[in-house]
Amino acid sequence: MATTKKSKRNDQRREPGLTRQRSLVLDVVRTEDVHPTAAEVFHEARKTMPGISFATVYNSLRYLKEAGLVREIASFGRGASRYDSETYRHDHAICSACGQLVDFDLPGTVALLRSAARASRFQAESVHLTLVGLCPKCREPK
Ligand SMILES: [Zn+2]
Ligand SMILES: [Zn+2]
Repeated sequence: MATTKKSKRNDQRREPGLTRQRSLVLDVVRTEDVHPTAAEVFHEARKTMPGISFATVYNSLRYLKEAGLVREIASFGRGASRYDSETYRHDHAICSACGQLVDFDLPGTVALLRSAARASRFQAESVHLTLVGLCPKCREPK
């Protein structure tokens, strides 16, 4: 038996019901801590599974999103959507100049959720804040 045990830790974290492609895509999103775009996930996934197509990656991301395993972050005109494996509630700030995206957590979002629910008359499930502005690097005078 000459089974090479390369990166078998993937298997431990595999969720039930996931195809190989989906669990690979999930794994890529989890290891990239930079909120990758679908294209970046595709690029990484191909290193492990050269035959995987962009459509498969894209569909897997959509599946994982619906399953609640990844979160899609809308980019508000800053290119493609990003994907996040941190599905616990947190907020994002996106740089309007370089597109850098960072995580932050704001105390008081629960109160915000309540007033948003009141204003929209929706039953609140979640609220995500995306701050658009200039990151510290882009604010530096050149
Ligand atoms: Zn920036
Ligand atoms: Zn995030």
